[in-house]
Amino acid sequence: MRKKIADFIIKTFNLEKDDINRNFGFFEGILSCILNFLIFLIKYSFSISLNSVALKADAFHTLSDILTSIIVIIGFYFSSIKPDKKHPFGHGRIEKIASMLMAIMLVYVGYQFLISSYNRFKNPVPIDFNLIIILILFITILMKEFLTLISLELGKRINSLSLKADAWHHRSDSIATLLIVVGFFTFKFGLYSLDGILGMAVSVLIAYTGISIIFQSGSFLIGEEPSQDLVKKINDIAYSFDFIKDIHHMHIHDYGNQIEITFHVRLKGDQTLNNVHEKITEIEKAIEKEIKGANVTIHSEPIESNVE
Ligand SMILES: [Zn+2]
Ligand SMILES: [Zn+2]
Ligand SMILES: [Zn+2]
Repeated sequence: MRKKIADFIIKTFNLEKDDINRNFGFFEGILSCILNFLIFLIKYSFSISLNSVALKADAFHTLSDILTSIIVIIGFYFSSIKPDKKHPFGHGRIEKIASMLMAIMLVYVGYQFLISSYNRFKNPVPIDFNLIIILILFITILMKEFLTLISLELGKRINSLSLKADAWHHRSDSIATLLIVVGFFTFKFGLYSLDGILGMAVSVLIAYTGISIIFQSGSFLIGEEPSQDLVKKINDIAYSFDFIKDIHHMHIHDYGNQIEITFHVRLKGDQTLNNVHEKITEIEKAIEKEIKGANVTIHSEPIESNVE
């Protein structure tokens, strides 16, 4: 279902044209801003007509959520800037810095949620909502959960932690609102602290997600061991040229939009430099064609030598 909706969106808005990372990021950011603003308007106008302070506060929380989606847009804008003299490997890692920032905000959201849930648990106050408000809230929950699923799916496809962080922020909001709805009903049945307990459990989950995104972004920025899939793909392409042997000393630096790949190979030693260069270049081109953003440099050694 969520895959199908994502496919539909990608096709309708032609998101796979040109810079797919930037398109996905911009789309998620802009959609989040629009939907959050819409939800704000719905909540705000009903808070006025129904004279509900709690709903008004919730409306302004939704308005403040636009901030993180703006960070998504800014992050993708800067990370998609082409390489320049100062940053020859492109700016793709900015996306990871943005996701770190958003993940820190997510941890803070979890912390605040924990405090407010604990307070509700300790002294439960009945929620002054009526059924109309509950219905409105329920509709906004569905809108936010829709946003969560789209963000998660788009983020998964371009391997983006900032989309994942934004998705979880959306989800934290829909769960928070859902707990208000739950509290409204459980109060009627005399279960006064259930929403507080659920809230505390959920806040731990939100904070944990934030922390894990901080670690994932940090690990990427430090420089990670390449994925086994990528290493295998490079090996398969290179070994398909039967004139090389013994691929070793492979180094892969992932810059987000650009991947620097270097490795050593062995060839027969009695060839001219022209010959070797021609063959090696052929392999470099083949890998660069298959792996998006790859920039390959191959170091060659004679088979007969045992110098690494
Ligand atoms: Zn929020
Ligand atoms: Zn060359
Ligand atoms: Zn070597």
